[in-house]
Amino acid sequence: MIEGYRCISGPDTTSDGYPLPLTGKPLTKHNVVVKKEGVELKQYPERFFPKKEDLGADEIRLTCIGSGNPIVRRAQAATGWLCELGNGDKFIFDVGGGTVQNLWSLEYSPAELDKLFLTHLHLDHVGDYHVLFDGMGWARNAPLQVWGPSGYTKEMGTAYFCELMDKAALWHIESKRGLVPSSGAVSVAHEFDVSQFSPENPRLLVYDENGVKIYAFPVIHCIYGSVGYRVEWNGLSFTFHGDGSPSTFEAEQAKGVDVFMHEGFLDAETFHQKAKLPLQNAQLVVGEHTTGDKFGMLMNIVQPKLGVAYHYFLDDDTIDPFYELYHQTCDLPLVLTQDLMVINITPDQIVTRQAWTNPLHWPSPAPPDKRGDMTLATRSEAAIPKWIKDTLITGP
Ligand SMILES: [Zn+2]
Ligand SMILES: [Zn+2]
Repeated sequence: MIEGYRCISGPDTTSDGYPLPLTGKPLTKHNVVVKKEGVELKQYPERFFPKKEDLGADEIRLTCIGSGNPIVRRAQAATGWLCELGNGDKFIFDVGGGTVQNLWSLEYSPAELDKLFLTHLHLDHVGDYHVLFDGMGWARNAPLQVWGPSGYTKEMGTAYFCELMDKAALWHIESKRGLVPSSGAVSVAHEFDVSQFSPENPRLLVYDENGVKIYAFPVIHCIYGSVGYRVEWNGLSFTFHGDGSPSTFEAEQAKGVDVFMHEGFLDAETFHQKAKLPLQNAQLVVGEHTTGDKFGMLMNIVQPKLGVAYHYFLDDDTIDPFYELYHQTCDLPLVLTQDLMVINITPDQIVTRQAWTNPLHWPSPAPPDKRGDMTLATRSEAAIPKWIKDTLITGP
């Protein structure tokens, strides 16, 4: 236990060090995956505490900021991941409802978290967009950079989404103009054209900086315009597939990665019973997602070192059934995720643990090299009328 931390009781580990959900059932039996035999392996503390542990120059840390679904739960925000690289780069992948309180609890400044990659525009993947955007003025004094797919029409694409989100924040931005720097109060969309995908052109390089390559590829999910991402850096790699029904196409795009992150979903009967949805609706929804047995079929094609399933409803009686379905088709190492699960990838091993974060954390200031433009603009013209301002109580 680290002095000064007050942790919510709940997500913890078993006596063997396995990440343990609220339910008490282990979420993985593969919390350490050894990639290279015969080398001395880095030892990690049992739990991850923000700001208490350096990331090695050659490693990747993935933190689940949301493992759940629409209708967010206290223990499961909707979908989102933070990716940190040993070179200092940080990327957010999806920002579903409830994810940003987990993100901020990792104690980075908003100024360090200005790169967001969206897989698709379902609200359980973008619901906390404005919460993330609100980092402006606190510390992020540079635009929020957003990567994402174009849509079937312009109005269904990422750029239009960002434009509308900025417009919806107008009152917020105007009200703070001149109080705090407003140079971060804008989104910059880096939209890529999904019509360029084809069997001959299965993936697009959408980010190529500082030795980091991020590719996008289409996935099958409801309508066209949903993608997955493949990240490659320092000989390490992972994919994040957003949502979707399993396809051999997406599996091909993920082949040989260290970590394969894909949604995992309840079977229709359980979803019907637990969520009280009519069975027919449950079947239709589950048809757009990936059950345990199909997850295993994807894994057999991808052959990753570790599979990671998110977007799953955790409960006492749902964990074993996912594994039972999974083991019908596959025996490769798998982690079922909960919020604030942390996965370290190095050239030698992959280690999964649970983070403990402070529920009463304070905002972290921007590092000196990321302060951005601190200039204050003039106050908004939408001034409060003099007749009411004259009634202001100014002191005792
Ligand atoms: Zn989703
Ligand atoms: Zn979706």
